[in-house]
Amino acid sequence: MDGLSELDRRITECRACPRLVEWREEVARTKRAAFADWDYWGRPVPGFGPHDAALLIVGLAPAAHGANRTGRMFTGDRSGDFLFPALYDVGLASRPTAESADDGLTLYGTRITSPVHCAPPANKPTTQERDTCRAWLVSELKLLAPTLRAVVVLGGFGWQAAFPAFAAAGWQVPKPRPAFGHGAHVRLAGGSVQGPEQSPEQSPEQSPEQGLEQEPLDVFGCFHVSQRNTFTGRLTPGMLREVLRTAALAAGLHPNGPIELAAPGADS
Ligand code: SF4
Repeated sequence: MDGLSELDRRITECRACPRLVEWREEVARTKRAAFADWDYWGRPVPGFGPHDAALLIVGLAPAAHGANRTGRMFTGDRSGDFLFPALYDVGLASRPTAESADDGLTLYGTRITSPVHCAPPANKPTTQERDTCRAWLVSELKLLAPTLRAVVVLGGFGWQAAFPAFAAAGWQVPKPRPAFGHGAHVRLAGGSVQGPEQSPEQSPEQSPEQGLEQEPLDVFGCFHVSQRNTFTGRLTPGMLREVLRTAALAAGLHPNGPIELAAPGADS
């Protein structure tokens, strides 16, 4: 088992945040009527995608009846219904839909993760929960560092959570920290890979390759693919595809063909 597989396994066993443990398990027991025949995942949801990804997408947290049900990031909820068609169109996913963890979806050169791995009530983790979960993100970044070249951060919460993690994983973060915005772009200079991050539960350490010089990291901001943004047209399909394609190119990936960008206001 490689380092990332071991990290993913350990994340699924984490119980460091009592409020979130209670909520994710309560939702899994009570279920939503439409999913009454589902056996909910009800645990922390690890990252999804290849272990040598060049592009990382950082969201917020699993949805109660989405990833907390299916066990895979953005799978089975409205946010995923917006994100995966875009990934498919840009050439980063094998199919435009994501219904279950065994639906055969493959991501190309791209991994999806979140700064909080458990579904929070009202989709709102506390700052303490965000900070507790950061150790997992730092470990994931360190393990991905040899191939990781670009990150798309979805939303301001993810942006606030990700930059301390980038710094802890060895990249050089400017001060003051860059402000979030849709289309924001900052290139972080690489440092040397730091020692392993202690997990939130102080379990055995990971072993990323220490002392290696990191490559720079291109970080892009994108409005979150939440219904609040997509239903109101604040984030359009064209806007999302443009950020994904720009980030994929920065990561050295070669998305399929030209992207047809929506005319301003066409999707709203
Ligand atoms: S630290 Fe992360 S994975 Fe662990 S319980 Fe908290 S939110 Fe879940």
